[in-house]
Amino acid sequence: MTTIQAGSESATTEQASTQVLALPAGPAQPVLLISAGPGDPGLLTLHAYQALQKAEVILHDALVSSAILALIPSGVTLIAVGKRCGAHSMDQREIERVMIAKAHAGLRVVRLKGGDAMMFGRIGEEMAALKAAAVPYRVVPGVTAASACSAYGAMPLTHRSLSQGVTLITGRGRDGGSVADWSPYVALGHTLVIYMGLKRAAAIQQGLLQAGLDGQTPVAIVGQASQPGHQRVIGRLEQLTSLSQTPGLPSPAAIIVGAVVQLADELDWFQSNDRLDWKSLNTNLFSAAM
Ligand code: SAH
Repeated sequence: MTTIQAGSESATTEQASTQVLALPAGPAQPVLLISAGPGDPGLLTLHAYQALQKAEVILHDALVSSAILALIPSGVTLIAVGKRCGAHSMDQREIERVMIAKAHAGLRVVRLKGGDAMMFGRIGEEMAALKAAAVPYRVVPGVTAASACSAYGAMPLTHRSLSQGVTLITGRGRDGGSVADWSPYVALGHTLVIYMGLKRAAAIQQGLLQAGLDGQTPVAIVGQASQPGHQRVIGRLEQLTSLSQTPGLPSPAAIIVGAVVQLADELDWFQSNDRLDWKSLNTNLFSAAM
């Protein structure tokens, strides 16, 4: 039997966290670009959690779940900058301006982004703006939607014999419309995980069919992965548009296309169980009454 001395584990954790998050003295505090993950606070990294506890100002996207926002101590200045469902959002340049001004004022600033901060989140522009303003920054990665949809939806994205790779792609074209030509992605034969595609499902269906993908290819839409409203619907490519109109299908949602979707029912562990108690960081995953 191995005995772990009480306290030793948490001391190590604290040490690991502070190594990245330790803030140098002086006015130029690094801005922390933190990934909030897909919604379940249990999927935050220790670095992310520590950053939320130590921040003085947090600029957060609309994708950041209320359960994660609830972990932020009172007294922290919370600035909601994201847009959902057409609501007003802060302009990208304005976000950068506020972030830089707060950092120059000597405050500990966290920029909190849904999923993995480095994935489809315009973080590159924010890093460039910070760099141009000589404000140092640190990036903490996190669980992206594809990982959450795959895990909770029970679809291993690269199941041996079914898919040799996975392509994470936005359903938005460069002009804000739809992806112009799906042929290069279909040609790869990879599982596709399509972000920001729910409202463009009809164009995606048409585009994939035009690119030669079989209408019988299995597809899934996973909404609010890892959150209490989690839902997964499954069908065939030729049904993608109608699947996307399933009443009550929550957003945000990602579309998964490819043979691995056919494993979802067989490997399911989440749809058939009571949901995880996502509000608690102390969720006991071993508990039978999950
Ligand atoms: N940085 C984020 C992605 C931002 S783009 C990440 O790494 O996940 C926003 C898109 O992400 C949404 O339109 C949706 O397609 C997807 N998404 C984000 N959170 C999700 C969730 N909990 N469940 C399903 N899809 C999600």
